[in-house]
Amino acid sequence: MKKIDILIIGAGLSGLSAAFKLQGKKEYLLIEKENKAGGLAASFKKNGFTFDFSGHLLHLHDKKSKSLILRLLKKNYSLIKRNSQIYSHGVFSPYPFQFNLFNLPPKARKECISGFIKAYEKRLKNKSKSKTILNFKNWSLSVFGEGINKHFMLPYNSKLWQYSLEKLNSQWCAPFVPVPKMEDIIEGVYSRQKENIGYNPAFYYPKIGGIQTLSDAFLKHLKNVNFNAELIGINPQNKTATIKNIGKIKYKRLINTIGLKHFIEKINDAPLKIKKLNKTLKYTTVYVLNIGTKKINSDKHWTYFPEKGFKFYRAGISSNFSKHIMPKNTSSMYIEVSTYGKPINIEKTEKEIVKGLIKCGILKSPKDIIEKMWLKIECAYVIYDKERTKALPEIFAYLKKHHIHSIGRYGGWKYSFMEENITEGIETAQQIISYKR
Ligand SMILES: Cc1cc2nc3c(=O)[nH]c(=O)nc-3n(C[C@H](O)[C@H](O)[C@H](O)COP(=O)(O)OP(=O)(O)OC[C@H]3O[C@@H](n4cnc5c(N)ncnc54)[C@H](O)[C@@H]3O)c2cc1C
Repeated sequence: MKKIDILIIGAGLSGLSAAFKLQGKKEYLLIEKENKAGGLAASFKKNGFTFDFSGHLLHLHDKKSKSLILRLLKKNYSLIKRNSQIYSHGVFSPYPFQFNLFNLPPKARKECISGFIKAYEKRLKNKSKSKTILNFKNWSLSVFGEGINKHFMLPYNSKLWQYSLEKLNSQWCAPFVPVPKMEDIIEGVYSRQKENIGYNPAFYYPKIGGIQTLSDAFLKHLKNVNFNAELIGINPQNKTATIKNIGKIKYKRLINTIGLKHFIEKINDAPLKIKKLNKTLKYTTVYVLNIGTKKINSDKHWTYFPEKGFKFYRAGISSNFSKHIMPKNTSSMYIEVSTYGKPINIEKTEKEIVKGLIKCGILKSPKDIIEKMWLKIECAYVIYDKERTKALPEIFAYLKKHHIHSIGRYGGWKYSFMEENITEGIETAQQIISYKR
């Protein structure tokens, strides 16, 4: 049986960055079930178009990881100022919705502002009261009030999560949902707000090659990666893993980056309690329709669609991230549709998407579509509910006892982004390097 110090499962950005840090310092093997690196940060080429799994943009906040990522990309990147919007009530409003109410019809604007004032007063009164974690719906109502919830927060999040907003908790949203002050709301009722609001006011994106470029840049530094090597089963008691095309491997430590739920399912002798807790973990699936089109006359990056009349929750113009990811005089787009627990009807959904894009004026005619590629993200958003809160500490304690580090957006079963995954991969590897045995 082959023996290895550290076995890393999954060559997405979490696994790649862990291997990058271990390279030359510890013996490792990185295995990936696909035939290329990247995971969700992969790109796919078709007739001159480069498609990602929807928009995959680099939001770089941490000095260290920013410097590493930009060094790896060499000079192949642009820094781009976000230009995104919301389509509702037949008009486009700049993102974030809650800061830019000025474009809405007067009735909707009034509901948003009066609701916000009422919620604001209520919050001031209740400031000293207990700080229990609210469900998403109540949190959102308490922060933004009735109107903003009616016109954006609730319909948009229902469409994205496809799960009860009363069962979803609000722990995931702190970095991702910007909360306005009273003066911001009032300013935004009259005119466009300053643009650097939220966690992603600007982003980096490779000039050439799509987001795949970053994973490939990590890969160049790695010596021990096996593709088409799927983890089939794992036995934490005797520290062995069974891998397709490789066989059995004995390891000392394991770094897992595949979805926690799916990883636990591969442990045959996991305690019943862990198996039961694992069954309660839930996720939302996203289907991404990428299209290549005749030139689209818009400089926008992406648009949120909260209203029920539109099947999709977000649509982006990826050709506005880089002019090198499509043939000349064309544009490319990604459109995201979410579902919980059941597949979508691709043909019907595609028709609804095209109808929606034409209705809001982004696309002129179905005939403008010259290329398409559907990509499915089985586990896209992990659901933050009370079952997750209960299950995670016990599952992670069990894995820790067996020298398994489960990290990344899905290994860690959380809402995180690429930069965070890279930082976590590196920090986990650093921690392992520092262990004596
Ligand atoms: C719709 C959407 C949009 C997003 N947009 C952004 C964005 O704009 N900016 C941003 O920073 N982040 C974005 N993210 C988040 C980003 O995709 C993730 O944070 C990141 O790619 C996760 O990397 P990872 O390595 O942790 O996981 P993954 O990329 O999922 O990597 C896991 C790897 O494990 C492999 N694998 C699975 N099963 C097995 C097995 N049995 N054996 C071996 N290998 C296996 C997979 O093939 C994959 O390569 C977005 C996510 C979604 C869902």
